[in-house]
Amino acid sequence: MAVKTPIYMDNHATTPTDPRVVEAMLPYFTEVFGNAASRNHSFGWQAEEAVENARATIAKAINADSKEIVFTSGATESNNLAIKGIAEMYAEKGNHIITCVTEHKAVIDPCKKLERQGFDVTWLPVLPSGLIDLDALRAAITDKTILITIMHGNNEIGVIQPVDEIGAIAAEKGIVFHTDATQTVGKIPVDVKKSNIHLLSFSGHKLYGPKGVGVLYVRRRKPRVRVTPILDGGGHERGMRSGTLNVTGIVGLGKAVELCIQEMESDTKRLSGLRDHLRKRLLESIPESYENGDPNHKLPHSLNISFSFVEGESLLMGIAEVAVSSGSACTSASLEPSYVLKSLGLGDELAHSSIRFGLGRFTTKEEVDYVADKLISVVEKLREMSPLYEMHNEGIDLSKVEWAHH
Ligand SMILES: *Cc1c(COP(=O)(O)O)cnc(C)c1O
Repeated sequence: MAVKTPIYMDNHATTPTDPRVVEAMLPYFTEVFGNAASRNHSFGWQAEEAVENARATIAKAINADSKEIVFTSGATESNNLAIKGIAEMYAEKGNHIITCVTEHKAVIDPCKKLERQGFDVTWLPVLPSGLIDLDALRAAITDKTILITIMHGNNEIGVIQPVDEIGAIAAEKGIVFHTDATQTVGKIPVDVKKSNIHLLSFSGHKLYGPKGVGVLYVRRRKPRVRVTPILDGGGHERGMRSGTLNVTGIVGLGKAVELCIQEMESDTKRLSGLRDHLRKRLLESIPESYENGDPNHKLPHSLNISFSFVEGESLLMGIAEVAVSSGSACTSASLEPSYVLKSLGLGDELAHSSIRFGLGRFTTKEEVDYVADKLISVVEKLREMSPLYEMHNEGIDLSKVEWAHH
């Protein structure tokens, strides 16, 4: 059977909404459209009931209590609320924050802003595997440290950080621990109690739910954690996030989480099987290709591979009917190599010629084979035109070549 193109293999960026989720949401647009904060009539009560059902489902999925779930517009907002909210609430206690260089921009940029405002931020490096060094984390802690914010699963290389160990260190030192779990909730088990997580962010559209809705988990007991709100208004969500609740979005998020939990085992098995197949085909058929991120600590649907001796833009153009992400990030003027790949020690060239494959619930074996075939042939073609690859094959050590300068 012919594969339908374009093929979507960029599920770290966003996922399609599961049709079962859409179905669950529909009545809340037209029939049960009440404001969940309206206390005087059944329209409001029904909306509130739907929100509370979703809240309970979501809380259970991460081993939290319903009262610890704050609905937001997505992980960007949740991360901002956690980081800025802790910085302001705990400012008297200290001004030091620990984070990591491979975080999502939605963590990096709030930390940078706090740095400009006078906070002291430690940017932990990562090992070539993409994992943080727990000894470096321990060594970075001072008596002024008020927050450790380290992501759970990385959105570019799929590496899963050791949250149990980080949580244990934070608990021992009495420091608040926030994790951006946008890539892990619904994909692998997440347990805020077991991992001693105090704050946790995630987003609906990364787990087959709708866009524009997310969660911040805020621990209420042992210890009770408080954040200063960013938005002031009606005092919704226990005062932490004012604004009329996105009832349809919340219902969709609840349904999406429910499905993810029900299907986690089978999805994981199927997707890791497909991912392993893709990895094997690419690495075995394409010489000088390398996997990025520790394969033993990796999200089941995630694969990131660098291809030497090909140019990143030509590579992407060659596989134009496949939606993937490259190791280049568009900034205002130019293509910048990914800061995540560079932090693993990759050079600019290799970072540019890297591809992130994000498999998902709707990815098929046929699609995976199509993508593998296509890449194998495109890389081969590009290398036929590469004088560098020819020199490399003749056994010339390119790092020792003295190039003529113009
Ligand atoms: C997508 C993503 C975000 C941002 O989520 P939004 O819903 O777009 O706000 C934050 N962190 C990680 C790790 C992500 O993958």
